[in-house]
Amino acid sequence: MFGQKKHVRVRFAPSPTGPLNFGGVRTALFNWLFAKHEGGYFILRIEDTDKERSRPEFETDIKESLSWLGLHWDELYKQTDRIAEYEKYLTSLLERNIAYYCFCSEEDLVKDEEAQMSQGIPPKYSGRCRTIPFEEATARAKKEKHVIRLKVPEKELSFHDLIRGKVTFHLGLVGDFIIAKSLKEPLYNFANVIDDAEMEITHVVRGEEHISNTPRQIAIQEALGFSPLIYAHLPLILGANKKKLSKRDLAKSISDYRREGYLPHAVLNFLVLLGWHPKEDKEILSVEEMQKEFSFDRVQKAGGIFNIEKLDWFNGYYIRALSDETLALLLEELVPPAWMNDRNKFVKTVSVEKERMKKLTDFAGAVKFLFELPVYAPELLLWKHTPAATIAGNLKEAIGIFEGIAEEDFHKRTIESKMMLFAEMRGRGEVLWPIRVALSGNGASPGPFDLADILGKRETLLRMKHAYALLSKKHEAE
Ligand code: GLU
Repeated sequence: MFGQKKHVRVRFAPSPTGPLNFGGVRTALFNWLFAKHEGGYFILRIEDTDKERSRPEFETDIKESLSWLGLHWDELYKQTDRIAEYEKYLTSLLERNIAYYCFCSEEDLVKDEEAQMSQGIPPKYSGRCRTIPFEEATARAKKEKHVIRLKVPEKELSFHDLIRGKVTFHLGLVGDFIIAKSLKEPLYNFANVIDDAEMEITHVVRGEEHISNTPRQIAIQEALGFSPLIYAHLPLILGANKKKLSKRDLAKSISDYRREGYLPHAVLNFLVLLGWHPKEDKEILSVEEMQKEFSFDRVQKAGGIFNIEKLDWFNGYYIRALSDETLALLLEELVPPAWMNDRNKFVKTVSVEKERMKKLTDFAGAVKFLFELPVYAPELLLWKHTPAATIAGNLKEAIGIFEGIAEEDFHKRTIESKMMLFAEMRGRGEVLWPIRVALSGNGASPGPFDLADILGKRETLLRMKHAYALLSKKHEAE
């Protein structure tokens, strides 16, 4: 049904109980890179058997985030479409007496556990329902509340982990665990194992937090006679303090980062280094390089440190790597439509601001003053103790100089050479400061010549005249 097992086949198997976060997407990325590196298949499997916690909107979020990052899947499955499949296997296990119905009440289980604890024995299911004859149990299951448990042998088992080597567990500690709430309600471990086998998965690549599920899953595999799999349990993602990543950090989803103005390539580059490093410890990697170089040999056992400043750094880097035009296209959606009336001005602004940007969403706030002159107090135009009349005079002369520059010469270089001559005569601060304030409405801004260049002759003169009028009014009032 799923093709022949000759290629690497890996799966990303999220439960849609929340939006895709960094933990999940790092797992998806490592699966995807391994598949690409090996010329294999990357399968997306939505593990939605938990009806109470699974939500369609989270499934949509997961798919949209993966697509946004370019992690395209080759095949897609959803567990709730496959309930009949799991039922078939459950029935077979029950008939072969490898699984059994259990009717123990919550109180029985709690009592058993307390008794075991008081004797200093690690608690596990007592096995009370193991011996109920199959026919009797089947009849009771039609009327009584029940679960289905696997008969777990008391033996040691091991598996091969590409990151940890050979890992050994003793099943004696596990006990007969629950594999389904009923024939139509398989639990996570069970559906997961059936799917890995039926979908001919070759490698299970997932977070370290799943390592404790592995012995249970192998017990199910063995009960069903499935072939063993190869595992790679990825290191945890740790916060900057080397502790487990806080709920707050994890609560933020990939779609939040997307909305905040992070670029997919920056997110991928940041993620790939969470637990893996390429040869020669290169930091900047194209997606092709990631695919080419990826291998589990260089995935570490120790947790990867999640450092958000690093993500910002990558994002700034990839923003600067975009052409002004491409970046302008991305930013268009994030600014008021009126800003696009003069596209030239917009692209020029993008080109200047690009050097400073960390996130796409920083842009609008940082350059707003170029499109809408903020209200400012006339006093801001004053330079130190220079009288208002002098500053007003300087502004008037500067207006004359701006007017004298032809439209086609109105570029930074020409403006700078003319204006500097004047500034050297009258004093830099006394000339350049009020121009900068006149053009930006603000004391802290790019230099006045950059501003004039971006604003263009018409807007520059409008702003200069406005400043002059403000100052003259103030002067008259005094
Ligand atoms: N559904 C599991 C999860 O979301 C996946 C476990 C696995 O990859 O085997 O954590």
